[in-house]
Amino acid sequence: MATFIGGVAASHTPTIGFAFDRDKRADPAWTAVFEAFDPVREYLDKEKPDVAILIHNDHVTSFFLDHYSAFTLGVGEEWRVADEGAGARDLPAIQGDPELAAHIGRSVMAEDFDLSFYQGRPLDHGVFSPLSMMVPHDADGWPLKLIPLQVGVLQFPTPTARRCYQLGAALRRAVESYPEDVRVAIIATGGLSHQVHGERSGFNNPEWDERFLDLFVNDPEAIAELTQAELAELGGAEGSEIVMWLVMRGALSAGIDVLHQAYTLPSMTGIATAVYQNHNAPFEQAIKRHQARAELQTAGAEGLDGTYAYTIERSVKAFRLNQFLHALIQPEKRAAFLADEETEFATAGLTEEERDLVRRRDWQGLIHYGVIFFMLEKLGAVIGVSNLHIYAAMRGETLEQFQATRNAQVLYSVAGKDSGALDWDTKGEAPTTS
Ligand code: FE
Repeated sequence: MATFIGGVAASHTPTIGFAFDRDKRADPAWTAVFEAFDPVREYLDKEKPDVAILIHNDHVTSFFLDHYSAFTLGVGEEWRVADEGAGARDLPAIQGDPELAAHIGRSVMAEDFDLSFYQGRPLDHGVFSPLSMMVPHDADGWPLKLIPLQVGVLQFPTPTARRCYQLGAALRRAVESYPEDVRVAIIATGGLSHQVHGERSGFNNPEWDERFLDLFVNDPEAIAELTQAELAELGGAEGSEIVMWLVMRGALSAGIDVLHQAYTLPSMTGIATAVYQNHNAPFEQAIKRHQARAELQTAGAEGLDGTYAYTIERSVKAFRLNQFLHALIQPEKRAAFLADEETEFATAGLTEEERDLVRRRDWQGLIHYGVIFFMLEKLGAVIGVSNLHIYAAMRGETLEQFQATRNAQVLYSVAGKDSGALDWDTKGEAPTTS
């Protein structure tokens, strides 16, 4: 079974990454920041977690305002560093853990937390600024895997402090019910007091920061009671991102040991680091009961013939190919595909297996591989194949055989105004593309 080794917290200001990259340890202005992170790095080096679940917020880098979500779990295979304006930091990508992430997704959703899931997006300083300080890394990569959990704290309404705290408890159950023998740390980032916008820009409240660190250990319920407005008043508008710490606190037992705690205020943000350990191990019975609950919704689905539940595992496996097909909703991409699909396959870095499935329009094979059906109907629209033809091919039937099972023999697709006249529509004939 997985072991939850404990909780780590750290601020995630861009200054931390800036100081690390320029090796400013000897500069008196930065020494305290380096020293705040030293014990965290030593702790992680000693405990050697296989995976870190890192609670972060994106700074409108990879999560734009076109779709803003509350809790978004990173399920991808790999995480790259984001370019936040003048090129990405020179850090290696870090491996994800899609298996554990999928388990966490199932487990937490079964407790009525409606998570979002993401992959293929680079991560900004909310992750890599503290991570680069905490974990030694080189060109070969990092000694642990990463599961990022993004909390949408920038556009109101944001998750409440209490909801974050509750999610943490669910996260702990998710980790401790994972059947694989891995060691897992939960790292919370953000805060402490700061405000970076408006006339109140530059606001700090070291007294509140000190009280927060005390309440965090001894009375987290009191913090969970605070509203977003109260948190903003006490710690600055952007400082209210400390609700992310409560996710980690919720994963800890009521009583905890403080292995390390440091605080410094060099410029705009109160920078804190901390390491906490649980007093109690979970009850085995509770873990078993939770496992049964997590599996309840999908139990039996694997026995449905010709049915492929669209799981996170399938989504991660076929992400590159789904992304390639999804791009066909852009007029210029579909024009390029129709002009020379082999070049498009190469540009997208598709594997030979993936290219072959698309090349042969192997509708059934694409589904088996992990492509979601709605990419098939897009490809069909691009190449002038009707949905009905795809349905028939997935069943291993001719169009005529499939149509015989329908009440009305109609043909249609999601093709829009660019499709022109479709042979099978205007003449009532089956499409000729195989
Ligand atoms: Fe932040």
